[in-house]
Amino acid sequence: MILTTPLLERLAREGEVHVVATPANATVLTNHPAVASVIVYDKRNVDSGVGGLRRVAAQLRDTRATTAYMAQGSWRSAALARLAGVPGVGFDTSAGRWLYSRRVVYRKDWHHAQRLWALANDPHEDASLSAESLRPSLYPGPSDRAPVTALLQAAGVRDGEPLIALAPGSVWATKRWPSYDALARELVALVPDARVVVLGAAGDAPLAAAIGIAVQQRGGPPLIDATGKLSLLGSAALLSRCTVLVTNDSAPLHLASAMNTPTVALFGPTVPAMGFGPLADRHVVLGRDALTCRPCSAHGGQACPLGHWQCMRDMTASEVGAAVAPMFDPPREPRDASPLR
Ligand code: SF4
Repeated sequence: MILTTPLLERLAREGEVHVVATPANATVLTNHPAVASVIVYDKRNVDSGVGGLRRVAAQLRDTRATTAYMAQGSWRSAALARLAGVPGVGFDTSAGRWLYSRRVVYRKDWHHAQRLWALANDPHEDASLSAESLRPSLYPGPSDRAPVTALLQAAGVRDGEPLIALAPGSVWATKRWPSYDALARELVALVPDARVVVLGAAGDAPLAAAIGIAVQQRGGPPLIDATGKLSLLGSAALLSRCTVLVTNDSAPLHLASAMNTPTVALFGPTVPAMGFGPLADRHVVLGRDALTCRPCSAHGGQACPLGHWQCMRDMTASEVGAAVAPMFDPPREPRDASPLR
């Protein structure tokens, strides 16, 4: 959903944009100026089954939309558009492609934000696209920012005190770099005046605790544990206050892109060439490019199929720390205006 926002902004120049989204994704679009309304499709609960599909289709029909852009390519989304009588446009690789009115080539060599953008655009225009034009956008509101302010105040963070965000979690175990605690020890030495804040879901609290112990052992200032305490837009608001984020290939990477927070992205079983790399002006991607087993799956699995997990295990805290430290310097390079391919 986050990477869909450049497409939404493009479409909003021509008319009202209505988005059908799951309850979790719907919250991401709160306050977004490109979005006229969000139709929540809770397919696992109140909208389950054919009855739910028909109800949501009726809501979609009421918007008088003329085209449905299928960012999510399931047959269910395609059926929804058909039921609503709205012509669908989607990728030629999607499960629901047989129900579309128009199919667009899924370019494996493009960033996913660009693929989505291309659903509504002339593919020949792509040469003019820059990283900046494809950067996603999110709009945390006062209710998202208030918990961030409270969290930082409770931690005694002063105005302007530098913050380093770490996002050690992922639903996929092989994507979780195992050395965030070692990195935290490095950071205490490299940037001693910065506070470390850990972002993530409630289930990431043990990871935050281990990082907190590492910081404490090195005599660093107390860790700020934000795991499970913030909404997605709240996390985006917190990231907008951070000097840099270190993250796996997971949702916080895209939140940081939307807030243009400098990013150090750690890729293990996946690679940015799959289309989900960082889009912040300042970013570094680290990964073991020489490993011939990379990438080994579309999303990363729960266990390394080869057992050694070298793609993540071989990445050292010192090399990640060396990528973080320069983010505290003023930018030296002009903005990257190169196309994303
Ligand atoms: S097979 Fe290779 S890329 Fe996949 S998890 Fe194992 S080490 Fe990483």
